[in-house]
This record gives sequence, structure tokens and C-alpha cells, in this order.
Amino acid sequence: MGDVELVLRSARVITPEGTRAASVAVAGGRITAVLPYDTEVPAGARLEDLGDDVLLPGLVDTHVHVNDPGRTEWEGFWTATRAAAAGGVTTLVDMPLNSLPPTTTVDHLRTKQEVAAAKAHIDVGFWGGALPGNVKDLRPLHDAGVFGFKAFLSPSGVDEFPELDQDQLALSMAEIAGFGGLLIVHAEDPHHLAAAPQQGGPKYADFLASRPRGAEDMAIAQLIAQARRLDARVHVLHLSSSDALPLIAAAKREGVRITVETCPHYLTLRAEEVPDGASEFKCCPPIREAANQDLLWQALADGTVDCVVTDHSPSTADLKTDDFATAWGGISGLQLSLPAVWTEARGRGHGLEDVVRWMSERTARLVGLDGRKGAIEAGRDADFAVLAPDETFTVDPAALQHRNRVTAYAGKTLYGVVRSTWLRGERIVADGEFTEPKGRLLTRPS
Ligand SMILES: [Zn+2]
Repeated sequence: MGDVELVLRSARVITPEGTRAASVAVAGGRITAVLPYDTEVPAGARLEDLGDDVLLPGLVDTHVHVNDPGRTEWEGFWTATRAAAAGGVTTLVDMPLNSLPPTTTVDHLRTKQEVAAAKAHIDVGFWGGALPGNVKDLRPLHDAGVFGFKAFLSPSGVDEFPELDQDQLALSMAEIAGFGGLLIVHAEDPHHLAAAPQQGGPKYADFLASRPRGAEDMAIAQLIAQARRLDARVHVLHLSSSDALPLIAAAKREGVRITVETCPHYLTLRAEEVPDGASEFKCCPPIREAANQDLLWQALADGTVDCVVTDHSPSTADLKTDDFATAWGGISGLQLSLPAVWTEARGRGHGLEDVVRWMSERTARLVGLDGRKGAIEAGRDADFAVLAPDETFTVDPAALQHRNRVTAYAGKTLYGVVRSTWLRGERIVADGEFTEPKGRLLTRPS
């Protein structure tokens, strides 16, 4: 242990083997060992005694819309990565749309990487996009290091990122499966959506009726059928409909290579409580009823749903009008995902270990970063969140680092105060004070 630079000591360290008192040794930005609590600190190493605060691996959020460059007034790398750091997130993977250009060619990827490099307070990777007509760009993007490819089956909300029809989906999926890549899908069926009542206006019940569960269920059934036929690896983004869970569970049992994520807002907010006109609660698919939410929690517990990511997708406040049909759809949750999920999880009898599994370990594995991120064990990056899990705070939008301080969580009292966040052994934020950006750009490990 001669070269140990730092020892983080806590009565509660969350490791893959469980929670225990331990001293975590760090050198060169990596964890070198997880040692007994009262291990003697090597000469020359600094001791950081965290007392009773919990040391957990930094969260890995694989679903974030940063929008930079092009729509930086919605969100940019500087603000998004500060919000992430403040919330205990140390790695994010940026979605290919809402920025201009979208990440659909290698040139566009280079543009995005250049912009992110100077502003990233945490580590940042990129998804590519699968559009009608860009099949030839997929392999070069894969070789350039994107973590996989996002496709929509219904309109995305921005004109420059059109959806795929079933034939185009099959073409893109076959190409991606051919080089062993991952296809991630916004699964709502456009025909089912078109047949739903499109009332518009400020009533949340009308909005909910316009995005029925059946649209998700049908799109997921089609996706499973295509993945089975092509032996492709696919991932369902932001699952909201609990009606799709039996389909997914059956596909997994059968050996279809499918994984599924859900989001903090589906797990913690309920349709019955959304005020009319409050479009800060609008997202697609929508926040559904309490009974639906209970089933999503069950599915997380039994492994049908693999992981939890934010789908942080902000806009400027003026686009959040009181008409649910035309307001921008997207919830800003990057800084609050850990306390929001933890608050609901603890009320439902889950431990912090479960939250870490859903929000760090499994998301790291989804993108192949599980050799470096997602756990406190020797060899991984020394990325940590330090959390006071029993302390509460009330969400004040003014305290958020997001570019636009609009949040569906305003006024909620949540458990879990993030005391500090560490990236490769350096404390990057503590008590609202940030260092200069120390994030790195990540590419898919080959
Ligand atoms: Zn999204």
C-alpha cells in the first residue's frame, strides 16, 4: 500500500458484498483496496473520515439530454454536469437528440465531444442516434466510441430526429446487431397514439388519456419480436406502463436480450397528484397512476426492470406552458434523482444497496463500464457520493444547478443529503462549492 494517496473511512460503505464499516484506499484515481475500518493509514496518505455518512459509488446516469451545442439555453454541459455532481452522479451518458447537431454522424459526435470537453464536471459519454437513412453511419459511430444507438418509434419532439417505422427499425437493428452494438428505444407505438383522444388543454387526465399504456405495450411487443428474430441486444427506455411487465418478464425468461429502465418520476410522482396546468410534470410516456407505480416497484424488486435513470430533459421555462398537448415534454431530475428514489425506496422497505444497484451498478453494466464504474471495489475509478441518508431537505428550485430551475419536485421534502461527490479520488463538490471541471470524455470500452 506504499503508494496510497487517500483513505476514505466510513462506518457504512456500500460494496458489492453489502454495507460495512471500511476504509477505502485510493491511488492514481482508482480504488486500490477496500480494507478493514481501523486499518492504519499509510504514511503520506490523507485520511478523510466520513463518520456515519454513507460512502456509495457515484451514480451512473445513462439517460441525460444535455442539448449542447444548439439548445444550450435549455441545458448545457456546464450546468448539467454541475447539477449531476451536486446530486452524487459521477458519470452521465448524453442522449443524441435535442442538441444541434444531433449525434448521428461521427462529425457530429466530434462536435459534441469538443463542446463537452471543456465544461464537464463529471465523466461524459455519448449515445448515437439511429435515424431513417443513417444506417451507413452506425458502424463508424460505434467504432468512434458511442455506447449504443437511440431510436424513436413515434415523433421525438424535434424535427431533426425523426422516428423509425418497423422496416427501418429492422434495418437499423440488424446493422447494430451485426457489430454487437446496443439499440435503445423510445417505445410508444405511433398508430396507437394517433387513435387515442387528443383533447389538449390543461387537464392532466386528458394528457394521460392521450398517451395510453397500450401504446407502450404494443411498441414493446414489436421490439421484442424484432429482437428475438435478429438475436439483437435491445434496451427499453423510460418504461412507464406496468401492463408491459408480463411481456418483458416472459421475453427475459425466454432468453431475448432485452433490458429495461424506468425513471425517478414514474417511481415517485403520481398522476392523481399532478395539478392541472402543471406541465413541469409532463413527459412521454407520462407519469401514471399510483397502482401502476406499485407494479413498477415490484418489477424493480424482482429484476424485470433493470435500472433507474433520470431522462433529465429540460427546456426553457417559456416552453412549459399550461397546455399539456403543446408544452415541452421532459422532467428535470438530475440533481434530485438519488434523494427522490431513496425517499420512496426506504418507505417501501428497500435499502440503499438496492438504490445503488439500480442507479450505479446496473447502469454501468448497461453501457459496458462495469470494469471502471458502478461499484466500490479494487480496480474501479474512485468515484463516490457521500450521503447522509437519514437527513431531510425541502426542494428549493433556487438551489438547483440546472440551467432552468423548473422542477416537478419543488417543495417536496426528501431524505438523503449529498454531502460531497468525488471523481477519481478528487472531491469535485462539497456544500455547493465546486472545483474546476475535472470530468473526462468516455468512449465505449472495446
Ligand atoms: Zn429521453
